[in-house]
Amino acid sequence: MAADVEVERVSKIYGGFKAVDDVTLRIAKGSFVSLLGSSGAGKSTILRMISGFEFPDYGTVRIGGKDVTMLPPYSRDVNTVFQNYALFPHMSVAENVAYGLRQDGVPGDERRKRVREALEMVEMLAFAERRPNQLSGGQQQRVALARSLVKRPSVLLLDEPLGALDRKLRQQMQVELKLLQRQLGLTFVFVTHDQEEALAMSDQIAVMRHGKIEQLGGPTELYDAPATAFVAGFIGTQNFIPGQRREATQAMTSDAGTTFMAARIAGEPARNARVLGAVRPENILLSDREPVASPNRLKARVDASVMLGDTLEFVLSLPGGTHFMARVPRRGARQFAPDTEVWAHWEPEFFTLYPYEDLQGNRTGAGPA
Ligand code: ADP
Repeated sequence: MAADVEVERVSKIYGGFKAVDDVTLRIAKGSFVSLLGSSGAGKSTILRMISGFEFPDYGTVRIGGKDVTMLPPYSRDVNTVFQNYALFPHMSVAENVAYGLRQDGVPGDERRKRVREALEMVEMLAFAERRPNQLSGGQQQRVALARSLVKRPSVLLLDEPLGALDRKLRQQMQVELKLLQRQLGLTFVFVTHDQEEALAMSDQIAVMRHGKIEQLGGPTELYDAPATAFVAGFIGTQNFIPGQRREATQAMTSDAGTTFMAARIAGEPARNARVLGAVRPENILLSDREPVASPNRLKARVDASVMLGDTLEFVLSLPGGTHFMARVPRRGARQFAPDTEVWAHWEPEFFTLYPYEDLQGNRTGAGPA
């Protein structure tokens, strides 16, 4: 039976440093929730406080309505799958999966039945007698998963479980994990720094930064309506244009003096406040003539075009040297040769104004336009 997880006003402090800062998060039973953020954001610390490997300095953790804040891991109805599998090399797959049940004193018949079930779930029954070093990385990860599932926890905690796999296999395992979670109806709490992975698998994503949840939402909500410039840049890609909000309107004037119209304003920047306007590369259109009817347009130079399979990405540079990205479907796309001039334009519905924040260190372009 799945259980819900409640993290209420939880903080964890290491030597004066707030690794987790007053976090509240409610995870519905049977849902797939990801904690997403860069390294050091506090994701694993939250997971460890849910599992009982770490205790909060403040706040409460509840699993299935029961206060487990200070209970040890073995007294909680949870199990953790780690990135490094931690399989015993000298034991077969079946013995690895049986290990925890043996520790719990589950009798032989019952144990064998449950090991069989767990290996079937992850489609590894045929490999039951192999040793871990006779398995691929993906197969080892499946065994690690089976070893957690065999204990029938209500909540499964996964700490970057696919981090060691190559991209293709990781994508395949993402789909398998999601299907398995659906089928079992278990609660999954998944830690990752990979936004594509979080988008692909989660019902809800908590975007973490500096020990806090910056935004909690479904994949579509986070992608289409980020609450802050940080989330906007962390999920997918954005072009950011710094400037000044024009009075109390939905318009901004960039540092280079160009006016842009936005359909959305997030976080209520004050009139005339400094803002960042944001537009995603896939919402940019390119034209070799000035699109006079378009309210948002920029003249740029083509630096390069990059083939990304089904899309073509143009790396543009604006006067002053800032990069600006445009992504178009490759089928039927016009080619623009390097060093030619183009007009980049986009509709206000794809443009959002955010209160200005320093995004140095994020993977996003920002500069005068
Ligand atoms: P994430 O999982 O998002 O990468 P962590 O939760 O592992 O982040 O860590 C959050 C912060 O807390 C980091 O700055 C990390 O260095 C620090 N931290 C984590 N565990 C400990 C610990 N046992 N002792 C001291 N600092 C720690």
